[in-house]
Amino acid sequence: ARRIVLASRPHGEPTAENFRLETVPVPQPGAGQLLLRTRYLSLDPYMRGRMSAAKSYAKPVEVGDVMTGEVVAEVVASDRPDYKAGDLVTAPLGWQTHGLSDGKGLRRVDASSAPITTALGVLGMPGFTAYAGLREIGRPKEGETVVVAAASGPVGSMVGQLARKAGARAVGIAGGPEKCAFVRDELGFDAAVDHRAHDFAEQLGAACPKGIDVYFENVGGAVWQAVLPLLNDFARVPVCGLVSQYNLAGPPEGPDNLPTTMAAVLRKRLTLRGYIIFDFAGLFPDFLRDVTPAVRDGSIKYREDVVDGLENAPEAFMGMLKGRNFGKLLVKVAG
Ligand code: NDP
Repeated sequence: ARRIVLASRPHGEPTAENFRLETVPVPQPGAGQLLLRTRYLSLDPYMRGRMSAAKSYAKPVEVGDVMTGEVVAEVVASDRPDYKAGDLVTAPLGWQTHGLSDGKGLRRVDASSAPITTALGVLGMPGFTAYAGLREIGRPKEGETVVVAAASGPVGSMVGQLARKAGARAVGIAGGPEKCAFVRDELGFDAAVDHRAHDFAEQLGAACPKGIDVYFENVGGAVWQAVLPLLNDFARVPVCGLVSQYNLAGPPEGPDNLPTTMAAVLRKRLTLRGYIIFDFAGLFPDFLRDVTPAVRDGSIKYREDVVDGLENAPEAFMGMLKGRNFGKLLVKVAG
């Protein structure tokens, strides 16, 4: 069996030295246990937080431990009545080819319903994050304008498509012309704006002639600064992620944006609410009920970026934090 452990904690951007590939014996399942073999590993921005010792909503990975992560795995051997060899599950197994489970945190994957990779993306945690944040906090109404960045990724692409289903206008922000074309032409957003363009703030303003009613916050930083002046009175801001800040080793450079932000919160009576997807775990059955048919009939589209081989996970992960992925980033660990 092979696994990737945290070799050292990053300072700023992670580097290859922060990860180590190890070969170990395949573990033997004991009483009441399952042996799982990973088919696909999900790589997600939150993993950068787990690499740091800083206090957060979840415990950090210890140096020497397997990197955390959700996988789609096949049951190889089972000493449990509820699972048999050949069953497919999602499991919090981490970055490894094999692992043991006592059945906790598993969810069955139905390969006949949708491709199994979707259980980690459009029909898994990221898709659900978009669904819950919009439903509970963003609450888009017909005719309103919804803006989301990282719009070609699994969270952002779902946000825009659900906003349109609610009758709102969806404006995506993405890095580069290729991603913008995909967001507009394939996903069907009303407009897409490249955050790397020199006149990004002006272009965003032009794409939102009636201002912004819901800003689904995935990235923070310069994008937030461009969004803030465009927010309408009573706008809602689900604060889902701040990926532009995850690699910062200290306070960001440049002027302190907080006083401007707080003044706008007061004057425009904004609602900003952070959330971690566990907060809305009870909505997961609703999510599957509402979204699965739309994925199956193609009215909700998604894109996956599949990297081959566990050994390539660190590089793919580091690239994602800089926008090198194009769609939900997955590692194919075994076919
Ligand atoms: P993505 O697959 O979209 O990957 C992250 C993307 O962020 C990159 O591809 C890049 O896209 C964009 N990005 C990176 N740096 C910057 C930057 N400086 N400015 C603007 N965009 C940048 O990720 P996910 O869809 O999986 O996640 C999106 C967000 O949702 C993340 O912030 C994540 O942490 C958050 N999240 C939060 C959860 C919660 O429970 N609160 C649960 C799941 C996800 P581009 O090239 O287009 O710029």
